[in-house]
Amino acid sequence: MERRVRHTEAMTELAHIAPGQSTFDPRLLAVLEASGVEKDDFEELDWFSLLPFYALAGASIETEAHAHGDHAHFAAVRVVIDEALVAHFLTALPQMLAQLTQPG
Ligand SMILES: [Zn+2]
Repeated sequence: MERRVRHTEAMTELAHIAPGQSTFDPRLLAVLEASGVEKDDFEELDWFSLLPFYALAGASIETEAHAHGDHAHFAAVRVVIDEALVAHFLTALPQMLAQLTQPG
């Protein structure tokens, strides 16, 4: 099986969303805080419900899950993007979020 290259030097991590310990690229955090969209309280996963919008703006979602023999569990999701697409992402995302907070 071909091994997928997951992290190249050109990829930027915009967010690492894990229960109670999410971290965000300062540029994304600024967009989120300015949007007025509330943080989720879904198992302490900040802005977790916005993942589809991150994808539509050009980012990729990578799920980290652990298997421990008798059980497996979700660990985190990483939001990554080609560095060349970051400027587009930071322009497109606020426009999408404005549609969430300004109905009609
Ligand atoms: Zn684990």
